Amino acid sequence: MEIHFLGTGTSHGIPVIGCRCAVCRSRNPRDKRSRASILIKEQGAAILVDAGPELRQQLLLAGIDAVTALLLTHAHADHIAGLDDVRIFSEREEKDFPIFGSRTALQQVRRRFDYVFRNTQKGGGKPRLALHAVQAGFCIEKAHIIPIPLWHGRIRVMGYRIRDFAYLTDVSRIPAASYPLLRGLSVLVLDALRPLPHETHFHLSQAVSEAKRIGARRTFFTHMCHLLGHTQTERHLPPDIKLAYDGLTLRI
Ligand SMILES: [Zn+2]
Ligand SMILES: [Zn+2]
Ligand SMILES: [Zn+2]
Repeated sequence: MEIHFLGTGTSHGIPVIGCRCAVCRSRNPRDKRSRASILIKEQGAAILVDAGPELRQQLLLAGIDAVTALLLTHAHADHIAGLDDVRIFSEREEKDFPIFGSRTALQQVRRRFDYVFRNTQKGGGKPRLALHAVQAGFCIEKAHIIPIPLWHGRIRVMGYRIRDFAYLTDVSRIPAASYPLLRGLSVLVLDALRPLPHETHFHLSQAVSEAKRIGARRTFFTHMCHLLGHTQTERHLPPDIKLAYDGLTLRI
């Protein structure tokens, strides 16, 4: 299995427009973060998790030519604003492009991309989408995916597990029933927004203690804001925890 980190930033992206802080002005490429998204290559399928506003650029930069399906964690703008760009895949394959997510997230997709589901004039390019609501485990080609229910403030969101890899972004609390779904991981990706507590995201020390509790062999933090510089932050983390960065590729 291969994991490509397409984006590892919080909703503003880093640098933040008009910000002159040390991280936003940093020359370290690992301090440039586009909106959070990964692509998982597993059993011949290329599975995208979330479709933020930079999706097209992210896929071009990562050299990804084709995507099999999209998993949505939730429908906040930084996770779905680039969704129209999957159009190239439904056009080229001449079939509906599959999107998997919670019923609520898919309802939001229907509302915010309503033109996709309406009859409109000929000639305007639109993606062809097939929405699949998921609760329990399901398959994309030969890859088996387990949704992990999570809390993001007061809204329910989904993390996803494939074999011994799990991706949990935009999470402020893991329900008791989800911990058993996270046993025996070799790689965990976890939300770590900033140094100070936040209503809807794990902050750094909380993410470290959740990572320890889950006990994956390696943990990578994502969805980070400009208050976390790559080098400075990583220096203070335990050896089995690292910050992910745009362009990082893992082979598991
Ligand atoms: Zn987000
Ligand atoms: Zn800044
Ligand atoms: Zn969110």
